[in-house]
Amino acid sequence: MLIDHPESFGARDRLTCTECGGDTILIRRSPHPEFGSSFETQVFRCLQCDRELTRSADVAGKPHS
Ligand SMILES: [Zn+2]
Repeated sequence: MLIDHPESFGARDRLTCTECGGDTILIRRSPHPEFGSSFETQVFRCLQCDRELTRSADVAGKPHS
């Protein structure tokens, strides 16, 4: 599935690494397996320690747990 609006789903968010507090970048996005196309699962990778963080967000970029 292509994502038409790359700036939606909070794609510009930078999360803070839970391990070291460093900056993370979004490396992977996919439609949410349970909540459908209105939600994404997103994987962020820490630039400092390479830890990967996963979150779910809706089209407005609001996190959904
Ligand atoms: Zn880190």
